[in-house]
Amino acid sequence: MTNFTSELEALVKTASTLGNLPVETFHRIIFCSFIKAGLSIYGVQKEQEMEIENLIKTIAAPYRGLVNGRLYLNALRFLKTFNAFLKDSEQAVILKEANLHYILQFLENKVGKVDTVFVLDCASIPEIITIASKFSALRRNTTIYEEVFINPVGVTRFLTGQLETFNRESYLVQYAKLLKERLNASLYTKSSTVDLVTHQHGYTLDGFLKSIEMQKLFDHINHFAKQNSVLITSDHGYDIVADEHGLYITHGYKKKCPLNFSRIALFLVVD
Ligand SMILES: [Zn+2]
Repeated sequence: MTNFTSELEALVKTASTLGNLPVETFHRIIFCSFIKAGLSIYGVQKEQEMEIENLIKTIAAPYRGLVNGRLYLNALRFLKTFNAFLKDSEQAVILKEANLHYILQFLENKVGKVDTVFVLDCASIPEIITIASKFSALRRNTTIYEEVFINPVGVTRFLTGQLETFNRESYLVQYAKLLKERLNASLYTKSSTVDLVTHQHGYTLDGFLKSIEMQKLFDHINHFAKQNSVLITSDHGYDIVADEHGLYITHGYKKKCPLNFSRIALFLVVD
């Protein structure tokens, strides 16, 4: 059991006040708030600070206050607990949150049944929080579960490698199918968009935000969520790295970085 998802619930509550703004704007605001919080803990160089400040300038002035204020503080509180959890878990020999058998048991007990399962390869905390916030703004119930999947190496094969113990082939779509069966869902979908964009080189953070097409992703999920409940999760997230090349996105990064989100996958239910 982790104790940091309550901070994420608080973040969703703050972000849902963005109401009618497009999903892409939600995403940009939430993404920037996390990076700003990550950089302030990690320590930032002048050029990297300029880079994030320039990105924040692409957000309409009335909403910049959230990125520098309430959302930033929510993200900061979350990151402090999350980083402490990661540090502690490095010492754990066997981490139960990294074991799919444990995770499935948890989901069966706590989630019970959903109608659709949506697995997003590489969807990171900013995307899951964006989806939750937009649904919450549309007055839907959203739950971020206190249990999370921990992916210590931040790559898909850490998860898919465990599928053999369920007599499944090691493809991510099989994980979606397994969740569907365990949660008595009628549909399952896997999307690779975020992972594909993460692997394209030469993107600036701004280019990344544009290429991910959050509205499309949201509409895809909303298509299933319109009448029914949907579980949204991923295999791992992505990391935001700050080095001599500036700020960039990858997953499975081995060293310290401002946002080490490739280690975590959240479980969000919209009903
Ligand atoms: Zn990947």
